[in-house]
Amino acid sequence: MPTFVYMTACDGCGHCVDICPSDIMHIDPTTRRAVNIEPNFCWECYSCVKACPQNAIDDRGYSDFAPMGHKVRVLREPEKGTISWRLKFRDGREKNFVSPIRTTEWGSIKCASEYEQPSTASFDSAELAHEPDYLKADGGLRTISKQQFKKHPIAKEKTSNLKAAE
Ligand code: SF4
Ligand code: SF4
Repeated sequence: MPTFVYMTACDGCGHCVDICPSDIMHIDPTTRRAVNIEPNFCWECYSCVKACPQNAIDDRGYSDFAPMGHKVRVLREPEKGTISWRLKFRDGREKNFVSPIRTTEWGSIKCASEYEQPSTASFDSAELAHEPDYLKADGGLRTISKQQFKKHPIAKEKTSNLKAAE
């Protein structure tokens, strides 16, 4: 469900422009308000919805999610650590979905250039950048050997079922 901006609520702060990974949130040079210039390229990540201090961004619900005549309203409540979706149907029924959101302080996340450059040896590692530190996995990531995988009871059961079927 791509997003759109209520231009009367937007104050042109540009947070949505900064955060959009698809680079489709732009400030209209005439109105000085944000606009999603290419909804077809929207990742539907809702980073802009969560970042907008004016609650000025909503999404266009697809018909399977919200049938004709519906309204979908997104409510960002960082003080509660939640984001809520309110669907209003033509017959007046409402459905509300509340989901947790990250409440990392705005501007507190370091950008990639602020991290130490990785060594060439890290290309041979199975870990991605800043793992395991940023996964908060003390003592490293869990691994499983091939032998352990074969001993797993479900795998064993499947193997014996397959053999029995032959
Ligand atoms: Fe950009 Fe994500 Fe907002 Fe779509 S939902 S406009 S991709 S930030
Ligand atoms: Fe407008 Fe919200 Fe985007 Fe700021 S974050 S430019 S208020 S839509």
